[in-house]
Amino acid sequence: MKGIAPDGGLYMPASIPILSREEMESFAAKEYFEIAFDVLHKFLKTEIEDHNLISLCRDAYDFDIPIEHVTGNSYVMRLDQGPTASFKDFAARMMARLMNHFLASENRHYTILTATSGDTGSAVASAFHGLSSIDVVILFPYGEVSETQRKQMTTLQKNIRVIAIDGKFDDCQALVKKAFLDPSLSQIPLTSANSINIGRLLPQSVYYFHAWSKLGRKPVVFSVPSGNYGDLMGGIFAREMGLPVKKFVISTNANNEVPEFLKSGIYKIIAPSLNCLSSAMNVGHPSNLARIVSLYGGIMDESGNIIRQPDIAGMRKDFFAISVSDKTTRETIASAYKKNGILLEPHGAVAWRGLENYMACETSAGEDNINYVALETAHPAKFPDEIFRILNLLPPSPPSLERIMNLEEKYLCLNNDYNEFNNYLIKNL
Ligand SMILES: *Cc1c(COP(=O)(O)O)cnc(C)c1O
Repeated sequence: MKGIAPDGGLYMPASIPILSREEMESFAAKEYFEIAFDVLHKFLKTEIEDHNLISLCRDAYDFDIPIEHVTGNSYVMRLDQGPTASFKDFAARMMARLMNHFLASENRHYTILTATSGDTGSAVASAFHGLSSIDVVILFPYGEVSETQRKQMTTLQKNIRVIAIDGKFDDCQALVKKAFLDPSLSQIPLTSANSINIGRLLPQSVYYFHAWSKLGRKPVVFSVPSGNYGDLMGGIFAREMGLPVKKFVISTNANNEVPEFLKSGIYKIIAPSLNCLSSAMNVGHPSNLARIVSLYGGIMDESGNIIRQPDIAGMRKDFFAISVSDKTTRETIASAYKKNGILLEPHGAVAWRGLENYMACETSAGEDNINYVALETAHPAKFPDEIFRILNLLPPSPPSLERIMNLEEKYLCLNNDYNEFNNYLIKNL
């Protein structure tokens, strides 16, 4: 329930449970919510009863997770079939249900404070909408989210409050972090729902097991389109739990601080972060990087200073990192459609291009005994203008997106100023 540790650091599991080969192989015949139960049960069995956990999983994952064959041994896993057409539904829906379960059983009330670069906010808002024991306050960088993403947050109302900040995603994130550590807000029970919360990361390990088990149980190379590195962190947990992952391709847009870090061993944050087509990945200093660094024996503080250098050689072995420009992203949307018949949006295109580059570089790539899976993290219909410009076609809209377009919006605009934000919280919560 605490997003961030009292010393400003991030929580990690004290130990990571291992799944046996037999357990993992049984996933081939299971539905997604059953795999989610098996994986989460390893972490939560002392916290929640089995029958409660299974019904939360069933309720959270009532949509498809298609794995689309592209060519040879390569695939695109579509994580875009949830209610907000974003992969963030996976984490937000599970965490919302877990938090609600624990709060309801103790008769308590919480306020979730979260910053979004687009998709987190809508997924969190949708996941918590209408719950009686939780209010949500969402900050987003005005002008950096698409109209659809904004409407997914601002048309809900009820227990969902939305604030536009005159700044960047990193500014929103900084305001939220400051509020969590502010003694003047200590009477308001605050928690976070963005990817710094460990409750968001564990559900994000489940779809990696799903892909492996449904694709013939060969070692997998996963390409993960990365911004705040929560998606990748879920994959790393899956690997630590025993999933045979051959390599993670870290695919970023022009915010290439992590690819550069792996190349040079020197970490330099990008501030302000760069505006790219794949806007949910416009992050110049990913929060979850500190967790990855710690798994490789290093220590990084909140500002991105390396206190102890991680095992860079080990990281280079496990990760192939690549930055993809907007120009290449557009070319990839075009070529993937024309050459391979797959429709991608900018985030998925970054992942697909990263995977293509990896396959072109690695000598072992293309081998029969390995599968290659790029994650598509948003539905192409969320980027109609861009896709139309590139492909001259309009992606068909899922019903969940269609519905919100005519609803009334409600949100507040604040300057990028902590005092203003603090006043708002004290007056309204
Ligand atoms: C948030 C997001 C990402 C990046 O995920 P991280 O966990 O922040 O690395 C990629 N694609 C889409 C569509 C997103 O919303």
